[in-house]
Amino acid sequence: MNALAPYAVDERHSRGRVHAEPPPVERSEFQRDRDRIVHSTAFRRLEYKTQVFVNHEGDLFRTRLTHSIEVAQISRSIARILGLNEDLAEAIALAHDLGHTPFGHAGQEALNACMKAYGGFEHNLQSLRTVDLLEEHYAGFDGLNLCFETREGILKHCSRVHATQLGELGQRFLDGTQPSLEAQLANLADEIAYNNHDVDDGLRSGLITLEQLEAVPVFADNRREVERLWPGLAGRRLIHETIRRMINQMVLDLIAQTRANIAAARVESLADVRAAPRLVAYSDQLRPRLQVLKTFLRDNLYHHYQVLRMTDKARRIVRDLFDAFMADPRLLPPQYQRRAADDKPRAIADYIAGMTDRYAIKEHRRLFAVGEIH
Ligand code: MG
Repeated sequence: MNALAPYAVDERHSRGRVHAEPPPVERSEFQRDRDRIVHSTAFRRLEYKTQVFVNHEGDLFRTRLTHSIEVAQISRSIARILGLNEDLAEAIALAHDLGHTPFGHAGQEALNACMKAYGGFEHNLQSLRTVDLLEEHYAGFDGLNLCFETREGILKHCSRVHATQLGELGQRFLDGTQPSLEAQLANLADEIAYNNHDVDDGLRSGLITLEQLEAVPVFADNRREVERLWPGLAGRRLIHETIRRMINQMVLDLIAQTRANIAAARVESLADVRAAPRLVAYSDQLRPRLQVLKTFLRDNLYHHYQVLRMTDKARRIVRDLFDAFMADPRLLPPQYQRRAADDKPRAIADYIAGMTDRYAIKEHRRLFAVGEIH
């Protein structure tokens, strides 16, 4: 652990856990949070949840699990350089996608549509619900009983309606204050990870090409640099050498700009961080270049017809499952039937959100395919 900057989260001033516990022995409070996250069931499920490509489309594409590990790596590296709390940044990064539905954003949109009349579905809120309530591991409480600061970081976005129901944790969405720098960092590390690995996976899948990426300066400029150093380099090595430079460029830009923002705002404590505008940020030079990359990925990868076919199927699977369980909750596994007695739509959303891609496909087959018995 590095020396903490005065504006980092210090566990000695933590707002603590909902259920009081004795302090951990030989590890920090946030290491304990990280360890609980890694040992959770929801974390293991990330291996079989779609990032962009569904798991069975290929063994080398990112899954939510490998994505989360990349986010943790980037968060931790930057946290160390900025004197932030590495253990906290790592815990937030590893937990940030725990509430994701199967089939990536298509699954989330479908479930949100299903839940429209029942309070909606937000994956950030679901990540929090997973660590606060849904994990059943400990004798004394539901969930993982994580520290306030870890939970705050997991709750990246939140609508005002939901914020009012979350007490202390939702307050910042109502009064417009910021979370810790560790939380701000994990948020942008998420973006750095997917903007880069989606280029890599997109090229690997053949859905986007190197020629198309010539229109994206942040890629093309780094590619030129690689070709200058390694004339004739091609294929996987060219792609990786380019992408590693892109990651580096984004990380270094973020560090420099964040340092400048901290200095300009005269931030000297965590209280200053919360009151200041968002401090972890890219420079004005890099931000528009990243926007070009994002737009490129949206138009050419996320909206590629082959990806849209998959997302369309995913939407139908989620909708069918939701409707079937709503019509007859006796089709739910017993533990969800018990929850459904209190709040049927929410219990169904919890069940569906927890599914891996392949489990959802199997469950759909079990419920709808004539000839399938179990
Ligand atoms: Mg993510």
